[in-house]
Amino acid sequence: MVLDELLSFRIHFWPSHFPIEARYYEYRATGPSLILMSRRISTPEELRDFQQEVIRREQRKEWSFLAYYEPFDQEKSLNPCVARETIYRFWSRAKEYSYMSAYQVRRVHIGKSEQLDELAHECGRLYSQTVISFWRTVRHKGIWLKPKHLMRWHTSKKLHAHTADACVQAFFAAMNSWRERRKDDPDAKPPHKRKRYFRIEYKRSAMSLVDGRLRLSNGKGNTPLVLPWPWELPNTVVIHWTGTEYEAIATYEQLPVHGPFLPGKVAGIDLGEVHIAAAHDGAETHILNGRLLRSKVQYRNKLQATLNSRIDKRMKKGSKGRKRVIRSKKKQLKKIEYQIRDIEHKQTSTLITTLHQAGVQTLVIGDVRDIRQGLDVGSKTNQKLHQWAHGSIRFKLTYKAQRLGMEVVLQEETHTSKTCLKCGHRRKSSPRGRVFRCTNKQCRFVWHRDGVGATNIRYKYRGDFGVPHVVGVMAPPTGLRFAPHTRVARVEREAALLQ
Ligand SMILES: [Zn+2]
Repeated sequence: MVLDELLSFRIHFWPSHFPIEARYYEYRATGPSLILMSRRISTPEELRDFQQEVIRREQRKEWSFLAYYEPFDQEKSLNPCVARETIYRFWSRAKEYSYMSAYQVRRVHIGKSEQLDELAHECGRLYSQTVISFWRTVRHKGIWLKPKHLMRWHTSKKLHAHTADACVQAFFAAMNSWRERRKDDPDAKPPHKRKRYFRIEYKRSAMSLVDGRLRLSNGKGNTPLVLPWPWELPNTVVIHWTGTEYEAIATYEQLPVHGPFLPGKVAGIDLGEVHIAAAHDGAETHILNGRLLRSKVQYRNKLQATLNSRIDKRMKKGSKGRKRVIRSKKKQLKKIEYQIRDIEHKQTSTLITTLHQAGVQTLVIGDVRDIRQGLDVGSKTNQKLHQWAHGSIRFKLTYKAQRLGMEVVLQEETHTSKTCLKCGHRRKSSPRGRVFRCTNKQCRFVWHRDGVGATNIRYKYRGDFGVPHVVGVMAPPTGLRFAPHTRVARVEREAALLQ
């Protein structure tokens, strides 16, 4: 059951229609610290005022903006006490999104060296000292020290002052996550283990970039750590051990793109079963072939079924063999899940990059939510897979487009696959197969079915759907094939960052 549908997590989202509903958290000094609030917005003026208010209040740490929704049921969705489960879902996706949009992460393998070993060891020493002192003070004096006390207490002569602080702060971050976890799990244990080696964190204050080399300071009088760095200066760098070598994780802050947007090139996108997505931007049509993805999904289902039946029928409960097969099943399924996710990411990146290069500013995605609502939703897992199918592609397309400053809107898509582009005539039935044929005897327009869907979604958004158009010779759609080593989106993102 879908109560209401997510429109955007971005504060400066500009919807294609009103009313919409905005949700945000309000921080409270007494009682529960976070309260979910909801506000109905009916006009562009109201939305503009709301957006300004959010910025003001977020700066003062009074609110935390969550997302915009389409009010499904006025009575229900305006009531902040929506079903618990629903809130949880919003919350977890909001977290995922804020991670993806607010930061960009670059991971670089940097091998191993004695210097790195020494630094990591020193960080481990500081962290362990923090753990010991903190719990000892609790035990002997009954005092729970604060980060500032321990940062003053434990310092290092081998590290930059901020790197040393980060080791102490890491312990308090672990304490906070234990406090969170404790709410659901009474057996959760606070951090208490000593670490021989620990991650090395460098803040911006300890960095400089000269001639493609990133110089990470370890404090006065100590040899700095120097990494070859052909990229721009990051906000933070964390170096950790992967099990085989060290890896540097650099984070970059991504500034939000401000709207409302100028009217520009608009592309319509049709999400489908056979193709993943088809896009038409007025001149060109691109199609993401879904064959590879579909075969992976089918293979996953088959594998799951085979292994499940093997486990259920032939193996005794609690037996060693059964445990082994279950372990192996998990491993195999995980592998294929990763492959599926990888294909989805690469395919959506390819499409968004192509559209961005074509100068598209607005993406209009056909709204297939009604189809999902109408389908029989049997078991919980069924439902889960169900909601995921279009959702994950749409979600990936949306955040990737927004990251490049494009606006994304959802468009209701009734009859878009049945209506002729040329004469506006609507077929009685959906076209069969992959080819659209107009049933109007004077017209007889023939074109690629998915291209017709995407073009009509674009027309619908612009308000000229179902009317005759001057259609010249339509170029056949370009298939965007799956390239196993796509990194286009990353290159694009870097270009966007440098602007
Ligand atoms: Zn026609």
